[in-house]
Amino acid sequence: RTGARVERLPLARFTTLGVGGEAEVWFVETHAQLAEAMEVPYRILGGGSNLVVADEGVPERVVRLSGPFAERDLSPDPLLSTPEQLVTGWVGGGVPLPGLIRTLQKLGLSNLEGTVGIPAQVGGAVWMNAGTRYGEMFDGLHTLEIVTPQGARQVTPDDLGWGYRQSGIPRGHIVTRVRLKLRPSTPEAVLEKMSAADQARKGQPKMKTPGCAFKNPGGVSAGRLIDEAGLKGTRIGQAMIAPEHANFIVNLGGASAADVHGLLALIRERVGVPLELEYELWP
Ligand code: FAD
Repeated sequence: RTGARVERLPLARFTTLGVGGEAEVWFVETHAQLAEAMEVPYRILGGGSNLVVADEGVPERVVRLSGPFAERDLSPDPLLSTPEQLVTGWVGGGVPLPGLIRTLQKLGLSNLEGTVGIPAQVGGAVWMNAGTRYGEMFDGLHTLEIVTPQGARQVTPDDLGWGYRQSGIPRGHIVTRVRLKLRPSTPEAVLEKMSAADQARKGQPKMKTPGCAFKNPGGVSAGRLIDEAGLKGTRIGQAMIAPEHANFIVNLGGASAADVHGLLALIRERVGVPLELEYELWP
């Protein structure tokens, strides 16, 4: 009715791991299309960089922010900006984070460079306050627009109970767009801060992966525990525990979600302590 493009597609195409069966994907470009998409059970898909989607896919609609929700206006808002703090126009939740971070560096705008290398979309990264020890998404947020089946509202970070790797935004509430608050600096200074965060990523595998598999239990490195269990390089089907870093499972090409689940179960069986998953499993 609202003209949203709807297609049944394999979700493997939308995830960094490259696994996942089909679902009905709604490409929404307007608030009216989004409202229609949210009339029945749905999931919101971002960059797919923290997901293991089942081989059967998911029964719910999958919402994908498109069009203006994937565009960005980085020009300073004249009413909200000061010489010390630039507040941008709207940045869509569907904007890829890596390109945004590169552009901000070139413009000499600081606050978000600690998130360099996170292959998320802005909305997904905000939803879980993604970051590294060099910085996180909430370092650079001024206003958020959040949409639920009840409608859209604008909030500030102070309205949310955000903290370490969490925004306080309930699951299923969609971050459609945000205004960024940035500190004017120079491209060189921002680049220098980015290199430290970049450097810390050197040991990570370059293959298809959804990032770290497990949280570090009680401050101990999960990667070290898996390595000590002798599991580096172990394969099930086309999924492998990365030889470079044991807390990463990679897709060698054509892996299934079942292969990945097999490795996760093997790790839990062999490592002596309980491990909490870092990824989200769909469904
Ligand atoms: P998705 O994976 O698509 O979805 C994850 C969750 O977010 C789902 O519940 C989804 O429904 C929800 N979501 C997605 N979009 C929205 C939206 N617009 N509104 C509301 N909810 C939404 N994470 C870190 O924190 N730090 C790191 O350093 C880091 N490094 C990584 C390195 C690699 C190589 C990879 C593959 C992943 C890494 N991650 C890291 C994990 C991942 O990038 C983050 O969890 C990121 O926040 C996921 O965002 P996404 O857009 O890909 O979300």
